[in-house]
Amino acid sequence: MNRIIIAIDGYSSCGKSTMAKEIANQLNYVYIDTGAMYRAITLYALRNDLVSDNHFDREQLINSLTKMHVSFSCSSDLNRSETYLNSENIEQEIRGIEVSNHVSKIAQVKEVRAKLVQIQRQLGKGKGLVMDGRDIGSVVFPNAELKIFMTADYRIRAQRRFDELQAKGDVISFDEVLNNIISRDNDDTSRSENPLIQSEDAVVIDNSEITKDEQLKLALQLADDRIRQ
Ligand code: C5P
Repeated sequence: MNRIIIAIDGYSSCGKSTMAKEIANQLNYVYIDTGAMYRAITLYALRNDLVSDNHFDREQLINSLTKMHVSFSCSSDLNRSETYLNSENIEQEIRGIEVSNHVSKIAQVKEVRAKLVQIQRQLGKGKGLVMDGRDIGSVVFPNAELKIFMTADYRIRAQRRFDELQAKGDVISFDEVLNNIISRDNDDTSRSENPLIQSEDAVVIDNSEITKDEQLKLALQLADDRIRQ
């Protein structure tokens, strides 16, 4: 059986990670959440006062990149991969609204992208990989055997994300979640470095009106077709 690379790109909060994880589980592939890597760098920048609502020390961030080691390790209790910054588990902290509100600014920095793209390519060397993000099919693995581009109506995405955050106990308004999604989509599609684009050879999945199971079935069918080619 061929082991392939599956690149999943798309807008914020359309369930890319959930679907990518499930595909990886079913195929016994490695799953890499590249958004978590940009979030890890953002957390470092926030903790070291390199970024806030009204300032951004880009030069210092670039100079500090060598001090940041981003990695993943599988938690045996939870049976899932978690994100580490240097040797600290930051999986929970990077999911909060503060990181979400600053991550797109950090993701625009060419040097940050170059560092992370290099790590991502290294992780995909052995194939048998599902990777999700914004530039996986266009930049990281332009020859990926399967490229999926995910989208959904932005209000539906915001509602799903809001429900998720509320269930976790985060105190946040629907409008804050909605504005974060709109502004991240905007930043991600308009930046000059590796913007979010739909590759010509990507299969588009709009999940506004389909269930998670229907979407997964469709993606697994596409993967199966590519594996057999
Ligand atoms: O996927 P997630 O929403 O966690 O990604 C957080 C942010 O990281 C995105 O809004 C985007 O700005 C950035 N990102 C990126 N390229 C990737 C993955 C994420 O620019 N491959």
